[in-house]
Amino acid sequence: MCSLASCQSTDMTSVVRVFHAKLMKMLFLLKVVHIFGPLSAWMYTVEWLKRGLPHIHKLAWCQDRIHPADIDKIISAELPDPNADPQLHSSVTKHMIHGPCGDLNPISSCMKNKRCSKRYPRDYCGQTCTTNDGYPIYRRHDPGFGGRRARVRHRLITFNADNTWIVLFNKYINKGDDMAVFVFSDEDLRYDEIKQFVLGRYVSSNYAVWHIFGYEIHLSSPSVDEFAATFIYPEVPEYYIYNNNNWKRRSHGTELDNWPGVSRKNVIGRVYNIHPTKQEIFFLRMLLHVVTGPKSFADLRMVDGVICDTYKEVCLRQVLLLNDEHLHRTLAEASNCKLPWQMC
Ligand SMILES: [Zn+2]
Repeated sequence: MCSLASCQSTDMTSVVRVFHAKLMKMLFLLKVVHIFGPLSAWMYTVEWLKRGLPHIHKLAWCQDRIHPADIDKIISAELPDPNADPQLHSSVTKHMIHGPCGDLNPISSCMKNKRCSKRYPRDYCGQTCTTNDGYPIYRRHDPGFGGRRARVRHRLITFNADNTWIVLFNKYINKGDDMAVFVFSDEDLRYDEIKQFVLGRYVSSNYAVWHIFGYEIHLSSPSVDEFAATFIYPEVPEYYIYNNNNWKRRSHGTELDNWPGVSRKNVIGRVYNIHPTKQEIFFLRMLLHVVTGPKSFADLRMVDGVICDTYKEVCLRQVLLLNDEHLHRTLAEASNCKLPWQMC
């Protein structure tokens, strides 16, 4: 994750341009220079902090397995040496100490059921280890074995912080504050749902400029893996499992002959029911049951190299609406999961 430190008064177009340039440079270092070794896939999504500054969430899959020593070169969960790098030490003690919570501060916002929901203070650990769930356990030296301590004042509480309180850091120290909307009024205020919705969407100047320049909000490579492009949307769960916010290939099931290492399980992928009166979404759903390996919504609307304006137009051109087949299919599907009055 990376972010630009700047104040709100900075020229927004410069912020956006410089951030985008830095992002491209980082992609170049990852994709071309291979600073972490060759990649098999990568993706990122751009988001904006509450103060309006852009940052990205980026994932990269390395072809070679990363070793703990590689992780230690990039990420640290330890107090740095104040003599070797006083500036970093000052930043970490100021911004990257969790809490305090637990007995030191039982009313900390992270406390749930009398325990820290972020699992602080963490255990000491002499060496970084990789785990099966993809989350490493980071090195946190015990003060008795070379770890440092620092006297810090955080949220009006002064305490001795050691490596068990350190939040992982590289350079990400610009997270914004939460936003609240409130009104003082003598009048009897009515709940205005539309107004609430409009207020709930905050478009910062940086966000607007990013769109004006036409920079990508999301980018990934490859967009859909070669194997996944061979089936339709409802077939995905037969080959993939959704776990910890991620789609992963199934490791159990019947192995496919033509795709070594890929397994299939006999499961039914269910897609949300859409009432036929909601035409465009209904036709979109219909296409998801026909088109194999679409890479975007525009891809779904493509017929003979031409992008149609509506999903209905695609269905018409693909002769999916020539007869009442789509209505029969809808009723047959509903007969499995709907009550008689719903069928009517
Ligand atoms: Zn906590």
